[in-house]
Amino acid sequence: MLRIDNLKLPVGVKEDKLRAACAHALRVSEEALVSVHLLRRSIDAREGVKLVCSCAVEVKNESGVLRRCKNKNVQPYAPKKYTPPAPVSAPEASPVVIGAGPAGLFCALLLRRKTYLIRARARGRAAKARCRALLAHGRA
Ligand SMILES: Cc1cc2nc3c(=O)[nH]c(=O)nc-3n(C[C@H](O)[C@H](O)[C@H](O)COP(=O)(O)OP(=O)(O)OC[C@H]3O[C@@H](n4cnc5c(N)ncnc54)[C@H](O)[C@@H]3O)c2cc1C
Repeated sequence: MLRIDNLKLPVGVKEDKLRAACAHALRVSEEALVSVHLLRRSIDAREGVKLVCSCAVEVKNESGVLRRCKNKNVQPYAPKKYTPPAPVSAPEASPVVIGAGPAGLFCALLLRRKTYLIRARARGRAAKARCRALLAHGRA
């Protein structure tokens, strides 16, 4: 299996375009693709809004395709599943998550799923005021 990173696509694009982008990155026809599995999708809003995707792809004659495509965004890939480490024992005090960026929010979500009551702290404005400011920024 191969992993293709940094596939740039317009927002709202249909799934067949992702397949076409994978075929283009590998320099093969779409018929040569056995399967395409989306691994990661993010939005890059720095210079115009676009999707940036990573895919796991099964392709016919994989080693030949990898050798020929000469694309630094393509590499061999073995699927692995992330499993959060099991806690040694339940914490005596509620965990506190500092910072409400993507990493902090994901950490809070995982802790909450473990049924721990958590407290999240972030500097800056309170959530409601921050939402209002973001909406106002979007309208500007
Ligand atoms: C200008 C710019 C443009 C970007 N554009 C994109 C984009 O278009 N697409 C994309 O996918 N990524 C983009 N990124 C990257 C993205 O923002 C980061 O990868 C992501 O925010 C990292 O998440 P994080 O949770 O690790 O950290 P952060 O998002 O930085 O979150 C950390 C949070 O913790 C808070 N904090 C820190 N210290 C304390 C403290 N002592 N007490 C309380 N709170 C604290 C901070 O205020 C912050 O809210 C961009 C980054 C920058 C700088």
